Amino acid sequence: MGTHQVLDGRKIAERIKQTLLKEETAVLRAHPQLRVLYFDTTASQVYWQAQRVAAAALEIGTGVDKSGRESYKTGSVSCPWNIPQPEVERIIQWWNDDPSVHGIFVHQPMPVQIDAQRVSALIDPRKDVEGIHPANCARRFFAKARIGSCTALAVMELIESTGVALEGKEAVVVGHSEIVGRPVSMLLLDKLATTTICHVGTDRAGRLESHVRQADVLVVAVGKPQLIKGSWIKSGAIVIDVGINVVNKRVVGDVEFDEALKRAAYISPVPGGVGPVTVMMVMKNTVEAFKWQRR
Ligand code: NAP
Repeated sequence: MGTHQVLDGRKIAERIKQTLLKEETAVLRAHPQLRVLYFDTTASQVYWQAQRVAAAALEIGTGVDKSGRESYKTGSVSCPWNIPQPEVERIIQWWNDDPSVHGIFVHQPMPVQIDAQRVSALIDPRKDVEGIHPANCARRFFAKARIGSCTALAVMELIESTGVALEGKEAVVVGHSEIVGRPVSMLLLDKLATTTICHVGTDRAGRLESHVRQADVLVVAVGKPQLIKGSWIKSGAIVIDVGINVVNKRVVGDVEFDEALKRAAYISPVPGGVGPVTVMMVMKNTVEAFKWQRR
């Protein structure tokens, strides 16, 4: 019997935090300022709370005072789900123009009336701590990104924590979104993994199972509980489950965890896997953004 190890995202996030505290003392002493535009939804509030706690631990400012008072002119803000496009653009422009702001993060998914691509293109690329500006996407394409998608970077941290070399491995990514599936595919490619991207068309063609069965490394980022059956997992695979779904008031991923654990060598749980590492990657990118602007 080989290993069947559950990857502890909280422990990995703590290690990244300790490294930042040790290696980026000068930057953290200057208190980089992160501005987050989040939405009035449960998911967005939960993510923002986690970001706020991580920022406070590193003394990265979020511009919200102890009373929780919020104004975009001085800090991060919660926005109603029906916020109009010009209002979002006004906030981002304010943060772009404010030299004391170093990182800008807009929560996704954005409401339907918001043109997410326009928003991405508006953020100053050097303040874009989610790596969604077209210039940062292009840099990722050429493997020269200074700031990348926080979730994709978190996925790579979890994979790298296993110590398994990726060169020549069959990597399968399920989901091709702009903030997870596509960037993680590029990062796997950079490591010389043979990378296959599966999506809704793969599933409709009835080919999802056969691709998943080939995967030495499987990354799933869809948002459909139990989409990936445990019995599909290749023996000894690394399985990274990015999905977040609420089923019967419990948070679960996209992979049938218990069954998959019996076959995988390493698997990330939900919750406690990708999530905490992603939050810490926002902080790491904020430090990087600060250095980029001070260059
Ligand atoms: P998204 O933008 O909705 O993308 C989902 C992707 O899955 C799309 O590419 C979609 O393809 C594809 N898809 C839909 N049905 C499919 C199927 N049956 N088979 C294969 N692919 C299918 O979502 P996202 O932002 O990438 O997030 C994905 C999941 O990860 C969500 O549950 C989200 O909450 C979670 N998430 C977690 C973290 C974290 O830090 N833990 C961070 C970000 C996101 P089409 O577009 O062609 O339909």
